[in-house]
Amino acid sequence: MRVAVASLEYEGNSLSLRVDRRADFARKALHRGPAILEAVAGKALALTGGIDTVRAAGAEVIPVYMAKGGAGGHVDDAFFAEAMAEILDGIAAAGPLDGIYLALHGAMITASDGDPEGTLLAGLRERVGDAVPIAVSLDLHAHVSRRMARNASIVVGYETYPHVDAYETGARAASLLVRTMRGEISPRIGHVAFNAILPVLGMATLDDAPLAEVARIARAMEAAGAALSVSYFPVQPWLDGPDVGITGLAVTDGDAAAAEMAATAVAEAMWTRRRAFELPAYTPAEAVRAALAMDAETVLLVDASDSIGGGASGDSPAILAALLAHAPETPAAVAIVDPGTVERATAAGEGAGAMFEIGAWQDDRQVAPVRVNATVERLCEGRFTYTGGPVAGASATLGPVAVLRIGPIRVLAASYAVYEHMDEHYAACGIDISAFKMVSFKQLMNFRKLLTPERAFLSVHGPGATPLDLSKVDWHHRVRPFWPVDDPQTPPRLS
Ligand SMILES: [Zn+2]
Repeated sequence: MRVAVASLEYEGNSLSLRVDRRADFARKALHRGPAILEAVAGKALALTGGIDTVRAAGAEVIPVYMAKGGAGGHVDDAFFAEAMAEILDGIAAAGPLDGIYLALHGAMITASDGDPEGTLLAGLRERVGDAVPIAVSLDLHAHVSRRMARNASIVVGYETYPHVDAYETGARAASLLVRTMRGEISPRIGHVAFNAILPVLGMATLDDAPLAEVARIARAMEAAGAALSVSYFPVQPWLDGPDVGITGLAVTDGDAAAAEMAATAVAEAMWTRRRAFELPAYTPAEAVRAALAMDAETVLLVDASDSIGGGASGDSPAILAALLAHAPETPAAVAIVDPGTVERATAAGEGAGAMFEIGAWQDDRQVAPVRVNATVERLCEGRFTYTGGPVAGASATLGPVAVLRIGPIRVLAASYAVYEHMDEHYAACGIDISAFKMVSFKQLMNFRKLLTPERAFLSVHGPGATPLDLSKVDWHHRVRPFWPVDDPQTPPRLS
């Protein structure tokens, strides 16, 4: 048995100003052919899980293409066209195949295409025909279009958020693929999407969170034999498209009606819990004042509206401004993306003082830079390796970094917007978050792994391209009615 494998992973955000091109993917992971095997070995990536599973089944792996771009606004059309051509041509050149496994994120957008993964899968299906099964693994935040579901044979999503099962998801997709190639199963996909979007901050699959209940329903259906695989896609909500909504998806053995029923059950389970996804959040000033009054040794200030992992710029200085205004004598650490500040600090040199204009260099639509006198405490290269999550074991670079000192406040200015897992980015330049009363994060979920009895967190709604209140966004392409702008009695089905 011969299986071609490829990955193309990127999470888009229509509200973000960021554009990712070839160079941005190359800085993260861009490989072709056998170099892919070396790049993924020993990591916890979906692609690694898929490759290991195919090999364990005694099949030959033909590595074709791998591109990881993290999250951002959109991918430029030229790079997507190049990536798609590399995958299609590489698969065509691979010779006769028994199966194809693709690791996708599922929420990419390009300048002109709201469903590039659908375009890719349709193109691939056209090339290889119906006889070759195509298995796809997706992030839990995927925008799973009907076109994607129609052109894939098997689709499975991450089961967890925080994401800790990327490897296992790749392995599940590949093991269903192997069973299909052996003729043991004949997969059918059910796909049901509702015109509703939910706040990412409330999407944890931990404890008794609403999505944890949905996950239990999905696992119970699998255990009862109702489906081979049941996935829930609460969707990346900052995608301004007419077909973007919470989606249930199930794979059964030859039973299209049962697949549709299981997909409906999980989609409805998300819909009925839609109000429970909303969590309290504070303005930057409210959060800083509240943190001062808390007993916790360290309070994590979660800058949810400027989440780098959600595609925002990571350059909002709103929390820094609130700290300077309301807690200038309290030890606090802020990480922010600002290459101009890094350049200025580098020119000044370690130990020098200078006037800086921090933040809002890319996204100044809702906030202005913070003008402040600071001392350059340290300059460093911000390289680190992720200690867990969907990118465990992968290395990342913040580019040149400057650590600035403003009294007891430290500002870590990075050159690049890099996915935040835990505190690896702070540690990369010598900042121990335990030394501070308040520490800000530009992410929505992984910070929970940093919580201890001595630490608390407050969610902050400030400026940025990942707003918490989805009903206040100026949507242009959504179809009415949709939750949470409208409040229909029955779930509005997306066709
Ligand atoms: Zn995700």
